[in-house]
Amino acid sequence: MGKKELITKKCKYCGEEFKTTRKQHVFCKTKCSTSWYKENKKDYSNKTPYLKVRFAVLERDGFTCQYCGRGVKDGVKLEVEHLRPRSKGGTNEYINLVTSCQECNLGKSDVLLSQRQEYKQKQRILKETTRKIKTMINKNQNWQC
Ligand SMILES: [Zn+2]
Ligand SMILES: [Zn+2]
Repeated sequence: MGKKELITKKCKYCGEEFKTTRKQHVFCKTKCSTSWYKENKKDYSNKTPYLKVRFAVLERDGFTCQYCGRGVKDGVKLEVEHLRPRSKGGTNEYINLVTSCQECNLGKSDVLLSQRQEYKQKQRILKETTRKIKTMINKNQNWQC
């Protein structure tokens, strides 16, 4: 019986050299193999990491709605929504997610955040202008005959 030749290979996971008789061996030990599969599977499955990403987003946004600024202490239910809607090809990535309360989230109907911010800004300017005009009118009331 001829001895099988030992080949020196580099472990795909830990990078250490190991000797094997089988060409298809890519890991030095089972632990390396399972670790590698665990880590790489993560990149392809959407479910498990999404929860992690979701939490990271909430943490990043300080557990407050990025539209109205309210948080759990204000009695709102927080959700994580997609900046670019899933229907428009948005992904579950950290950068595509934002913390929103249920109220703000429900009123969105696929409108992008940039558009909403613009709208909010317009509303704010309008309010500010109205307030200024009112103050002016109040001050000048004496002028009226
Ligand atoms: Zn290894
Ligand atoms: Zn909100």
